Amino acid sequence: MIDNVEGMVESIVSNSHMQSSVNDGVTEKTHQIMAHQYEDELFCPLCGASRRQKVEKFSNYQGFDIIEPGHKIEFKQFPIVHIATCLQCSTKTTMVLYEGPEKLELAILRNTYGGSVTENTPQEVKYYLDQACRARMMSALSASMAMYRSALEWILYDQGYVDGMLGAKINKLEESLSNNTAPKWANDMPVELLTAIKNIGNGAMHTNGGDISKQQQIDGSLIELVDIVFAELLDVIYEQPIRRSKNVQRLKSVAANLSK
Ligand SMILES: [Zn+2]
Repeated sequence: MIDNVEGMVESIVSNSHMQSSVNDGVTEKTHQIMAHQYEDELFCPLCGASRRQKVEKFSNYQGFDIIEPGHKIEFKQFPIVHIATCLQCSTKTTMVLYEGPEKLELAILRNTYGGSVTENTPQEVKYYLDQACRARMMSALSASMAMYRSALEWILYDQGYVDGMLGAKINKLEESLSNNTAPKWANDMPVELLTAIKNIGNGAMHTNGGDISKQQQIDGSLIELVDIVFAELLDVIYEQPIRRSKNVQRLKSVAANLSK
């Protein structure tokens, strides 16, 4: 996966070949040249899952040195820009490896609305999922998580739970489940899942007992999981009912024609 600095560097190294070596008795540095094009895995927001990508070297950098022992990699110049194209849907992703304030960082920039938005997702929910994705692209993962929390609040608002903050809205949803007035989708999604997203979103914004290190738990793989949960949530709420009704209509109309 090339969605993090380590993965990207590993991919660059494994898709490179030795051009020449500096020796003088001891081989300390090995000059590497990277293949112009290679393939690797990356999450595709349009496909909603990890997809094989054609990755092209975009920036005209000279290469990098691997310093032995311990394989310390020193790039000669920044930024390093690659363009990844999803082999399934052709979504393009621009990947910029650059020097951040403390260490190497990776920006992942896409040409689609980010996040797991579906065709019939309401605009307000789309807005917050896009914000979540933009924050994620710049590795601002706590900011991203806070936006997922807002997206969830808008989903519940859209579904008729308009009063109070997110916690109150989830309580109302539970109440309506227990008296059989909840929307159909609520029976297919465990409420604990929504509560967990709320709590992690709160944790991303709160002081958590004065311990900022707790934010480290909100990492790339967690955000990817949250995105997958949203993809499922949006499908169950906004796409499944439409798909089902279209299928029923089509089958009924063919059945009616055949029985004439
Ligand atoms: Zn795709």
